Amino acid sequence: MQKLRLAVDGGSPVRTHPFPEWPIFGELEEKLLLETVRSGNWGGVNPDKIKSFEEKFACLQDAKYAITVNNGTVAISIALLAAGVDAGDEVIMPPYTFIATATAALLIGAIPVFADVDESMLIDPDKVEAAITPATKAIIAVHIAGAPANMTRLREIAKTHKLSLIEDAAQAVAAKWEDQGVGALGDLGTFSLQSSKNLNSGEGGVIVSNDEELAEHVWSIHNCGRIRNGKWYQHERIGWNFRFSEVQAALALAQLSRVEEQMEIRQRSANDLDERLRLIEGIHPVKYDSRITKHANHLYMFKLDRDVMDNIVKEDFIRKLNAEGIPVTAGYVPLNKNAAVIDRIRKLVGEAKTNNCPVAERASDHELLWLHQNVLLGSERDMEDIANGIDKVMQSYL
Ligand SMILES: *Cc1c(COP(=O)(O)O)cnc(C)c1O
Repeated sequence: MQKLRLAVDGGSPVRTHPFPEWPIFGELEEKLLLETVRSGNWGGVNPDKIKSFEEKFACLQDAKYAITVNNGTVAISIALLAAGVDAGDEVIMPPYTFIATATAALLIGAIPVFADVDESMLIDPDKVEAAITPATKAIIAVHIAGAPANMTRLREIAKTHKLSLIEDAAQAVAAKWEDQGVGALGDLGTFSLQSSKNLNSGEGGVIVSNDEELAEHVWSIHNCGRIRNGKWYQHERIGWNFRFSEVQAALALAQLSRVEEQMEIRQRSANDLDERLRLIEGIHPVKYDSRITKHANHLYMFKLDRDVMDNIVKEDFIRKLNAEGIPVTAGYVPLNKNAAVIDRIRKLVGEAKTNNCPVAERASDHELLWLHQNVLLGSERDMEDIANGIDKVMQSYL
């Protein structure tokens, strides 16, 4: 492509019309919501739509049990509590994740310990092994971008060291590792139904497991310490009200019927982008383990090559791309660098103890770029525009 004047320099942008809006909804959402309104059963103590959503969700994730809760953050806290994690215990997790993975542990007084990611931005099992201490109680694998972490290795490590293995699958609805749905590959798995996620009921969360005892424990914690078939004021343990509502379940059920079709569209777009971006010098799509048999594509991630990093400042690259109408974003700051997280760890253990995570830090500072899931719901023409925009901006540096 010939060198064109960039939009930031007064040239015309590659793209002027918007990418698909999110959420996508229709008559089904309206019908189910209206049913719920008219039933007068709006909360979470008489599960009707909640029950059918939980059954369908468990099925989608190849799990025996699914319990809905009010968001994806508390889903992680509850999973940790159900697994027996207590205040002062260490929980190994990747630094490259939404802050909720760490704050969910901090909420119950547990200490996040960061094990660096690999080049796919997924927790590196070798770093997990290196981070284990006598205080370690659990590992949280985060399926970032919708890509399952290496659950085969992580299960072996958890078993050898007698640790609980929890999957933060907030971004990975319907993703599969070796043809098995994520969530119940470890002991417990958690999902988020927050507005930006691939399956959205405004707010909400789900915890899945194949272990009946853990599932009962989760149910009890999320329902004020009650037990199933117990009396209303019979509280057998400390629990809280973390219930989902029938109103949210109406939306979740309707949106669930759209998940698999949307997933196919996102995968088609991701494949298309992979092919197009491989042809552009200076960048490459993030590569994944072939045992990921279904990627949820909550994010599409690509990187600036190591040898162009000296010439291209990531922020400048993003600014130029955004001016071309391409909605690329910078992504997370690794949590081992977050002052609030470090400060809370210091309060709990008396020192600011965090590991260096050079792979996550380099990716975040210099290499990694994101496109969000709604962009992937666009057409082939949309993907072409994205590739053309990236190509145009890359050319400007050469
Ligand atoms: C969104 C998200 C959460 C938190 O879910 P909420 O429903 O927003 O509380 C946790 N972990 C990851 C990786 C997420 O993307």
